[in-house]
Amino acid sequence: MSAAPNRPALLGGQPSRPAGPPPWPRSEPWLTEALHEAIRDGSWGRYHGPWCGRLAEALRQAMQREHVQLTCSGTAAVELALRALGVRADDEVLLSAYDFKGNFQDVLALGATPVLVDVCPDTFALDVSLVPSALTPRTKAVIASHLHGAQVDMRRLTELLRGTGVGVLEDACQAPLATVQGRIAGGWGDVATLSFGGSKLLTAGRGGAVLTNQPEIAQRLRLYTQRGNDAFPMSEMQAAALLPQLARLPEENVRRAEAVEWLRQRLAHSPADWPSGMLTPLFTPTTDSTAVYYKLGLRYAGGAELPRGLLTRAARAEGLALDGGLRALHKTHASRRYRAATPLPCATLADETVLTLHHPVLLESPPAWGQVVAGCARIWQHREALREWWSQQTGGPDTSPEI
Ligand SMILES: *Cc1c(COP(=O)(O)O)cnc(C)c1O
Repeated sequence: MSAAPNRPALLGGQPSRPAGPPPWPRSEPWLTEALHEAIRDGSWGRYHGPWCGRLAEALRQAMQREHVQLTCSGTAAVELALRALGVRADDEVLLSAYDFKGNFQDVLALGATPVLVDVCPDTFALDVSLVPSALTPRTKAVIASHLHGAQVDMRRLTELLRGTGVGVLEDACQAPLATVQGRIAGGWGDVATLSFGGSKLLTAGRGGAVLTNQPEIAQRLRLYTQRGNDAFPMSEMQAAALLPQLARLPEENVRRAEAVEWLRQRLAHSPADWPSGMLTPLFTPTTDSTAVYYKLGLRYAGGAELPRGLLTRAARAEGLALDGGLRALHKTHASRRYRAATPLPCATLADETVLTLHHPVLLESPPAWGQVVAGCARIWQHREALREWWSQQTGGPDTSPEI
């Protein structure tokens, strides 16, 4: 084993971030105060109080949507949104073959068939140009997810589907308040979803929302969720914790985006001399599309010299929250569960090459971002020693990406 002082932590060196990734969710005085207030006014334990109403109104304003239905999770939000679009048993729902697993399961939960469409080779977002060939008379809806900071071409998708009766569900769970081609993410779809799960940018441990401008969709959501009580409820305590986070979201989104631009520069010219294009963000913001980063998605091109699973394992040892991306849906489900509308080579590539950097470090400062680059650089410099270490381990590294 190398005795170089810059040895990777996996091989016994000092970790780049000895304390590990920054904790999430945060512990902040303003969060404590918000929760105390919900305790003081008694609403924390009540069915009804002021907080859910306030949050729904704040989301209506921030997202510029007429109707907001708060829910118990993002997964429930997606299922409800599909129902509200009229998806039923034996319908088909198009989605990217590289998407959040829950979206696929939500389609199945309605008895409908997920129809997998390949992704764009650069952003790994739904390839809208393939949608026409995937449509059949049974197609009822398309799920468009903005993942890992990348965005679906919503203008083209909505133009394509105009007048066809096929609904668009815009999944903004990972991109709250991103700007997508001049509109707030969620503003293109017939219906949009948000998640407030424990790792998300707006978090209450659990929770979600469905948003729409269309009264018929809002009416169907109400009919399905209101059963004398709310069948998929958010609690007052969750809403109380979310309100002050929503107020801070625009400013924090800007700070995270600045961090990503800093990283984009440094990762392109690493001190470790790695090949150009070895770690490239999946998406480049433009004047009318500003990205929001829940996870910064990176394309990893160094797998032939350093397997991705070994890189992420070494990164974890460095104290960096750098992991493999999602599993592609056709790689993890039996083929009788879905129909593949197109060949899926780019989704396979995404399955194999995406890395994601979890967001909390992006709210820190250049020294912390520098630790990410330095950690990756030292791992790359010592790739041979790492491979040697790996070959000595029984079974080799876990190459299956973490979800
Ligand atoms: C997190 C997420 C969801 C829903 O997640 P929950 O954990 O159920 O709140 C849906 N779609 C995407 C893209 C997500 O990232």
